[in-house]
Amino acid sequence: MSEQTPSTTTRVIDGKLAAERVRQEVAVAVAERRTRGLRAPGLATVLVGADPASAVYVRNKRKAAEGAGIISVHHELPAETTTAELLACVAALNVDDTVDGILVQLPLPKHIDEHAVLVAITPAKDVDGFHPDNVARLAMGLKGGFVPCTPLGCLRLLDDEGVTLAGLHAVVVGRSNIVGKPMASLLLQRDATVTIAHSKTKNLAELTRSADIVVAAVGRVKMLGREHIKPGAIVIDVGINRGADGKLCGDVDFDAIQGIALAATPVPGGVGPMTIAMLLQNTLTSFDRATGSLTSTAKKAP
Ligand code: NDP
Repeated sequence: MSEQTPSTTTRVIDGKLAAERVRQEVAVAVAERRTRGLRAPGLATVLVGADPASAVYVRNKRKAAEGAGIISVHHELPAETTTAELLACVAALNVDDTVDGILVQLPLPKHIDEHAVLVAITPAKDVDGFHPDNVARLAMGLKGGFVPCTPLGCLRLLDDEGVTLAGLHAVVVGRSNIVGKPMASLLLQRDATVTIAHSKTKNLAELTRSADIVVAAVGRVKMLGREHIKPGAIVIDVGINRGADGKLCGDVDFDAIQGIALAATPVPGGVGPMTIAMLLQNTLTSFDRATGSLTSTAKKAP
């Protein structure tokens, strides 16, 4: 990666293809365990209320799980479900031996204590990686936890690109608990020099222009343009936004950085598909820990 030489063509990092590879890996691993007489891994999804976007996300997760041979158990609860009722549902799933992963779809209705629900999920089945135990494990560099699916997917894309992260400067724009902070931890674990930028950061363009890797996780339409990217940098765009034309777009102006970035993820078709794929991988990891059948796929998970 050179600072001076602009890339003539920016490689498109195909998240759809990469996600398909991960799904295949999980499907093969599940089939292999079945041939050894083990049960199928189980993923429980819990949807409270009728938010249409959440319903679509859950449906896609269930479909992907089933496609990989994972048993999908779904609980659909009415919008007026109380925190206590949801906690009871989670408690039952915690002790269900056929369930390896529990996913409570967010956001929850306003009257439900979201934090209470997330900490009630047993960390061993917290395949979203949101439980404080798993957050701490990641921050401390301890193995045996779960990493949130979106940053895990971003890391996998970088790995698939063959990037050696050690010593590179990575700027993560955004500091949310589900994307920015865990992304920064993962990059730090790989010996990148990591800067986290957020809404109070001054001179953002100057900062990102010094980055070999830019991860954008903001949620603002095409806020990073040509002036934000160093020639030869790799750009991972987590943002999912609706542009003025009504079409989905990222936090990065993909067209504007052509010929500048070495490689970049498009939106859609970049990070998005990886999130579900990594959920399957986390579920398999959980299953392997529960059944004591670790393999190369599971060992790869940080
Ligand atoms: P949050 O809203 O939780 O966090 C956004 C972050 O961006 C905050 O840390 C905020 O800073 C920062 N920010 C806001 N404005 C600026 C600015 N002008 N300059 C620099 N930083 C800024 O969002 P999420 O992390 O949940 O999601 C980010 C994006 O990623 C969204 O578009 C979301 O839809 C998408 N997403 C995509 C997923 C996928 O599967 N591809 C999964 C999850 C999210 P501050 O903390 O100071 O407020």
